[in-house]
Amino acid sequence: MAVVVMKFGGTSVANIERIKNVARHVKREVDAGNSVAVVVSAMAGTTNQLVEWVREISPLHDAREYDAIVASGEQISAGLLALALHKLGISARSWQGWQIPIITCDTHGAARINRIDPEKLKKRLSRGEVAVVTGFQGIEQSHQRIATLGRGGSDTSAAAVAVALGADVCDIYTDVDGVYTTDPRIVPTARRLARISYEEMLEMASLGSKVLQTRSVELAMVHGLRLRVLSSLTEPENMPAVDVDRLDEYGTIVCSEDEIVEQQVVSGIAYAKNEAKVTILKVEDKPGVSARIFGPLADASINVDMIVQNVTPDGKFTDMTFTVDSTELPRALEVLRRVSEDIGCHEIISSDNVVKISVIGVGMRSHAGVAAIMFDTLAKKGINIIAISTSEIKISVLIDSDYAELAVRSLHEAYGLDAEEAS
Ligand code: ADP
Ligand code: ASP
Ligand code: MG
Repeated sequence: MAVVVMKFGGTSVANIERIKNVARHVKREVDAGNSVAVVVSAMAGTTNQLVEWVREISPLHDAREYDAIVASGEQISAGLLALALHKLGISARSWQGWQIPIITCDTHGAARINRIDPEKLKKRLSRGEVAVVTGFQGIEQSHQRIATLGRGGSDTSAAAVAVALGADVCDIYTDVDGVYTTDPRIVPTARRLARISYEEMLEMASLGSKVLQTRSVELAMVHGLRLRVLSSLTEPENMPAVDVDRLDEYGTIVCSEDEIVEQQVVSGIAYAKNEAKVTILKVEDKPGVSARIFGPLADASINVDMIVQNVTPDGKFTDMTFTVDSTELPRALEVLRRVSEDIGCHEIISSDNVVKISVIGVGMRSHAGVAAIMFDTLAKKGINIIAISTSEIKISVLIDSDYAELAVRSLHEAYGLDAEEAS
């Protein structure tokens, strides 16, 4: 018997038919004697609708009320799934974040889970009851307000519940049957990976592959939790119930690097559209200028990602280009306007017509030439690179967004990731 956490995303609970289908997936596990906690997202489109309503009423809203509103979608799907389980003769109840409780910090809209008290859940699970937990939300400790974990946060709820319960596996059911070499919606020849290391998945997620929220991978990595990504659209009865020794039969397992036998140099390609580029033209090139630009941005909690500096031939001035999250662009420009006199710049220009494309693979640590292939491939397609950043296991480039799909497809082919080549 295993303790299993099953998470179902928005498309998996998009309508009543799908919720009934989810109930059958859960029944399969219960019938096999496994203890099950389910974590659900809101029905597809619901959270977007709630966010839109908040913005319509007030663009500069109170973040605590935003959370109270956008967390509500999960309450509906959790209740509906509990009812669908009852219909199948399964004992189940819904749990909201505060009822467990899932305690978070007070950063509304992007809260982190501080701790989960699993005792109540454990007691019910031991009686054979299924716990249906609302994803995405918890309760902030000091003021007892509902807090949400950031978009896509139900993955993180699932990983955190799995850690708290000491689960054998955390199965993330979604609308694709695993983690692919790149987004299969962009590249139809993308290949499903049987396994991917925590480190690579962490990079893929943080660099734009929204199949898992970054924080869920972080949690799994820190606690050695097995995360598996699989499709809820597979007929529930055609899948085997969880057997911890045979997890490889379906989906993709996110696990530690040494559990992967055949490691590729490049495992995947990610793209992030939510980038915006800011260029500060002709700033004086002298010590302290960077601090006077990036200090105030940091004070305003604006994260800066890629940074490029181009010094003029006379060495007196420099152009400074950097990227921020596109939703932060208006605030970043506001901050920069305030400091522009201090730094003595000529002009500030910006654009959100850019994307960041990243090539990821732990094999890069020991293989040279990965960057050369990237630059060569993009050059052959006439794609200009605006900025570059690297880490031990990834290379990212910023390019014009018009070329995003062309770049991802060409790189996917250049690194031999296409399904045909692999077979
Ligand atoms: P859910 O609603 O189940 O949480 P998401 O929409 O958040 O689902 O994530 C699943 C989507 O992630 C897929 O439909 C796919 O388009 C996208 N995706 C992006 N990169 C990848 C990748 N490398 N592998 C698989 N899916 C990916
Ligand atoms: N419903 C939330 C969202 O759409 C959380 C999630 O789906 O993971 O972002
Ligand atoms: Mg998601």
